[in-house]
Amino acid sequence: MIEILRSTHQFLIFRQNLPECAVGFVPTMGNLHSGHLSLVKESLENNDWTILSIFVNPKQFGPNEDFERYPRTLGRDVSLVRDLFREGGFEEKGKKIAFFCPEKVSEVYPPDYNTTISVGNELTGRLCGKSRPGHFDGVTTVVFQLFSLVKPNKAYFGQKDYQQYLVIKRMISDLNLNIQIIPMPIKRDKDGLALSSRNQFLTGDQKTEALVLPKILEKIKKTIKENNWLTAQPIIKEIISDYKRSHSWDYLEVLDSTDLKEPHEESHTVVIAGALKVGETRLIDNKLVELNYVR
Ligand code: AMP
Repeated sequence: MIEILRSTHQFLIFRQNLPECAVGFVPTMGNLHSGHLSLVKESLENNDWTILSIFVNPKQFGPNEDFERYPRTLGRDVSLVRDLFREGGFEEKGKKIAFFCPEKVSEVYPPDYNTTISVGNELTGRLCGKSRPGHFDGVTTVVFQLFSLVKPNKAYFGQKDYQQYLVIKRMISDLNLNIQIIPMPIKRDKDGLALSSRNQFLTGDQKTEALVLPKILEKIKKTIKENNWLTAQPIIKEIISDYKRSHSWDYLEVLDSTDLKEPHEESHTVVIAGALKVGETRLIDNKLVELNYVR
């Protein structure tokens, strides 16, 4: 049986009544796809209870962003998870799952709500944070609140939102939250496009255009893998400036994967991160790659 809790009050009572057990948490904004479901499956396999939250969080959208048109498909989401639960034999394994999907925004932010959780600018001012001011404050504020309600042992985050994963890890470490963050690999479609709830906004032609994002990330990754880092850098610069000329990029950067700074002498792994605008839709993606100093 899948429990569905639609108010904070209901959820608090539910949580208070849970026996001592391993709780895994998967926060989402819904409109689930196989990327989300891979997180849910991992949590089901490794915990007694899995809590999946679905909340389109207004605080992480800017004034001219797509909060209103963000797809809300709760009925379909529940049935996808029900299928996963059944097909994975999780009932027989004694696993349990509950949805927390607040019915109204005021369940999470009552009218007198007045707190923001903010991770410093060093991590949040780059990449997505540069073009989406306040976005990460919205993310950490809602995730902190959800953590307080859910009290998970483990929380599952996709590496598709790599900067978000680093920001949440920073918050957990700075605030001494006793939660283990589990990063999960990016799920892609057969053409290599990272799955995203926003992909459905793309027309056929736009989908073709969007494929430039995973393609260039792969091209840069290959260059880094096949060359000494010193040799690779000027080649990458050229690739990036070529691609920037012909598409509408928000950013396309190669940064140290631990602190999102320019790669430095001690950098071991870099993240190749891109955000591309295709029509009205903004897509993000990234790839991690180890640097090669000896070749
Ligand atoms: P969202 O609903 O887009 O906020 O995403 C909820 C969680 O699912 C976040 O931790 C995302 O990083 C993760 N996620 C979204 N897309 C993918 C994907 N293609 N592969 C793996 N995880 C993903």
